[in-house]
Order: sequence, then C-alpha cells, then structure tokens
Amino acid sequence: MKAWSDDVALCTNGASRLKDEDRQRLARHSVTLYQQRILRLEGELGSLRRIIFSDGKALARDALFLSMANVQRSEIPRELGCELNAKGGLKKLRGERSSVPGVFVAGDASEDSQLVVVAAAEGAKAAMAIHTELQREEVGL
Ligand SMILES: Cc1cc2nc3c(=O)[nH]c(=O)nc-3n(C[C@H](O)[C@H](O)[C@H](O)COP(=O)(O)OP(=O)(O)OC[C@H]3O[C@@H](n4cnc5c(N)ncnc54)[C@H](O)[C@@H]3O)c2cc1C
Repeated sequence: MKAWSDDVALCTNGASRLKDEDRQRLARHSVTLYQQRILRLEGELGSLRRIIFSDGKALARDALFLSMANVQRSEIPRELGCELNAKGGLKKLRGERSSVPGVFVAGDASEDSQLVVVAAAEGAKAAMAIHTELQREEVGL
C-alpha cells in the first residue's frame, strides 16, 4: 500500500487485538490506526469520499481495500474426505488434484491466491488433469 500512497490508514472496524509488533510496524511506516467501528462509507458520483466512524469522526479517503476472512463453509470437501491445508482450504496436489482420487480443486476452494485469473487458470489445469485421467481409464493410456 505504501508503494501506492504516502497516506495510508488501517481501519480495524472495532477489532483491537493487534500485536505490539504489528502496532510498531504500522507506526514505523506511518500508517495511522483507527480502531473504532465503521458506521458508513460516504461517496460522491460513485467514488469514496469519507469513512464515518461510530464516534462521529470522519476520515477523508479516496480508496478502500478490504481484507475479508474467507472460510470454506461447504461441508462437501470434508464429507468427501479431502485433506485440508493450514488455511482451511483444500490441499492441492500436482495437477489440481485433491488428496482424494477423482476430486479436483480450482479457485478459491484451495484458499491460495484469490484472483479471477488464478481461478480460471486452475480450472483449466484441473480440466486437463481430469481429461487425462479419464483417457487413462478408458483407453488405458
Ligand atoms: C468483494 C470481492 C472483490 C474481489 N475483487 C477481485 C478483483 O478485483 N480481482 C480479482 O481477480 N479477484 C477478485 N476477487 C476474488 C475473485 O472473485 C475470486 O477469486 C474468484 O471469483 C474465485 O472463483 P471461484 O470459481 O473459485 O469461486 P466463485 O466465483 O465464488 O464461484 C463459486 C460458485 O459456486 C457456487 N456454489 C457454492 N457452493 C455451492 C454448492 N454447494 N452447490 C452449487 N454451487 C455452489 C457459488 O454460488 C458460486 O457461484 C474478489 C472477491 C470478492 C469477494
């Protein structure tokens, strides 16, 4: 973020459990910390203008980046017996395979980089791996 702007703030929306070392890092990089809950975002003509906190204070901002705590909510991977990785996503083996034969992983399900382009690429790789496996089964290649 600091490569893009000198004026960066971290808004925790009420969360206050920051480690001392993280606070020190923020201070070292001149990132202002706001721990109040966010009441609303205000904008004009489709662009963000300010963040309004629950204590009534306003913080002028042009852009906002969110960090969302995504979690795997589907029980299907567990029910299929798929091994999970440390982030709670499906563990990926070579060729987008999961730990269960015949089950493949692509996109956010692996909790790897969560980007559209990555999901599409992994989907294509999984499709090729599935095709290869089906050919092996059917033709014995
Ligand atoms: C707010 C936000 C902003 C983002 N911005 C960007 C960005 O700017 N650039 C970028 O590259 N990426 C961005 N991403 C990430 C990107 O959207 C994901 O990485 C990508 O969509 C993952 O694709 P996917 O196919 O794995 O999952 P998804 O796109 O989530 O598709 C999964 C689909 O499966 C369906 N589904 C779930 N459970 C079941 C079920 N049991 N049965 C049937 N269907 C089911 C869901 O309804 C959904 O349609 C953003 C994500 C969010 C949330």
